Amino acid sequence: MRWSSLFIPTLREAPAEAEAVSHQLLVRGGFIRQLQSGHYSMLPLGWKVHRRIAEILRQEMDAIGAQEVLLPAIHQAAIWQQSGRWDAIGDDMFRLVDRKGADQVLGMTHEEVIASIGVELSSYRDLPQMWYQIQTKFRDEPRPKSGLLRVREFTMKDSYSIDLDDEGLDRSFNLHHQAYQRIFARLDLHAIPVEASSGAMGGSNSVEFMVESGAGEDDVAVCSGCDYAANLERATATLATVESRPGSEAPERFPTPGIRTIDALAEAGHPAEHQIKTLVYRVDGELALLLLRGDHPFQEQKFLDATGASEITPAESDDIRAALGASPGSLGAVGVDDLVVYADPALEGRTGMTTGANEDDVHYSGVDVDRDIGVDRWVDIRGIVDGEACASCGEPLSVVRCIEAGHIFKLGRKYAEAMGVSVLDADGQSRIPTMGSYGIGVGRAMAAVAETHHDDSGLIWPISIAPYEVVVTVVKVDDEESMAAAEAIYEGLQAAGIEALLDDRDERPGVKFADAELVGFPLRVTVGPRGLQTGHVEVGLRADGSQTEEPVGTVVDTLVGRVEAGRRAGS
Ligand SMILES: [Zn+2]
Repeated sequence: MRWSSLFIPTLREAPAEAEAVSHQLLVRGGFIRQLQSGHYSMLPLGWKVHRRIAEILRQEMDAIGAQEVLLPAIHQAAIWQQSGRWDAIGDDMFRLVDRKGADQVLGMTHEEVIASIGVELSSYRDLPQMWYQIQTKFRDEPRPKSGLLRVREFTMKDSYSIDLDDEGLDRSFNLHHQAYQRIFARLDLHAIPVEASSGAMGGSNSVEFMVESGAGEDDVAVCSGCDYAANLERATATLATVESRPGSEAPERFPTPGIRTIDALAEAGHPAEHQIKTLVYRVDGELALLLLRGDHPFQEQKFLDATGASEITPAESDDIRAALGASPGSLGAVGVDDLVVYADPALEGRTGMTTGANEDDVHYSGVDVDRDIGVDRWVDIRGIVDGEACASCGEPLSVVRCIEAGHIFKLGRKYAEAMGVSVLDADGQSRIPTMGSYGIGVGRAMAAVAETHHDDSGLIWPISIAPYEVVVTVVKVDDEESMAAAEAIYEGLQAAGIEALLDDRDERPGVKFADAELVGFPLRVTVGPRGLQTGHVEVGLRADGSQTEEPVGTVVDTLVGRVEAGRRAGS
């Protein structure tokens, strides 16, 4: 293609609202434009990258025996009601009503649709099955942001496995695990597989593929000593030993005027690790107390996973006062027997603790947790922090910000059962099959590559997904010899199957070089009158900025070799 006839609207400035580097550079490089918050148009260069990523996904899904399908984007509410997710998923799901008054949803995932087709499977001989699609999905994000990283409309590769038994599911899950590692290697993304919460998907086992980036929205604990890595929504660590303060006969009330926070109480001589943090939440509508050690953060997803509750929200202050007789800052669980009390195991057996007395400006000291508090349920609900010891090897964990680039789930029988899928096994017995679900967002993968492949001048695409692999830059387009040489190189590359772009624009060389660096073509050939005098052109490598002189006669072969090596990388 010739740059002069393409639509590549590069910009010198990023839009004011763009914070993430990928957002800034994909807009500036002319890849994407925002229509409205959370909805982006893919311009020609953006769509080329998108298609190349999708092609890698197709190749790796096909390679594990998955079959491509295309499922509807609009689903009748009935199938979501059948699975229970019509109610379980709140405002994240786009819902609409058709002209006949029937409730519909814009699909955010396709387990229900897959299971609705799965009812045609009748025998164990029909299994296993793996089906995938590359399709538009919708999610009514409360806060779309970071360009393609968090959007309301996006393209996903989602796949689903259906197996007779757990061994089969393990096999399908592992095939996807391996395929995902190959996919991320081909995208040149260093994706760490981490233990994750299954969240609203349900199921027993899930792994996220995380790419370290400050633009991400997930925190991952990574061990420096072994291969343990887990999302903070799930991560555990060895609890450092804390000497309890001496016990006492009974809790002692003491005045704490104006003291409302853990820190303020710590300054008054009650260190955070000797305090009980009392949180009041509505758990599926019912008020409950959640207790943690004062220095431990609350990890909401751990609570949901451990209790099976579907929703928790902080209680309103009026409700708290009505139930406990005090305001946050003076709350505690001593003597509370009419609310459910959940406590983190880090509090078990602790004595000499300090907590609110359910009277404004009064606390208790000398609290013996096991003696003085009626804990209904011990649940691990603490978020771990940087530097805690790994439970497997004892080395320190570090907490790093990541982009979730992929997620694979063992769903189990939940959807198959709800949707009435069953097959006859070898003994003629009816069996409910077990399912897995596996996703990679195409646009998010593109943004993750942009986040991790750029410098001050712009993007640096890996050859495997670059919009064009080589740009041929003509320094002086009115020099006939230059144009002829450039055309010959361009045609030679095309003939060898290389995606090449001829920058034939009548622009200053500085503008062309700046644009090429901003867009991020992996290889650039610069054709100018001075080099041609000695029969040479210049080959520049975007990744390391290196430039070498190459004879005109062999430059096509040199470039073909480099591009083919780049395409193979990781695969
Ligand atoms: Zn470890």
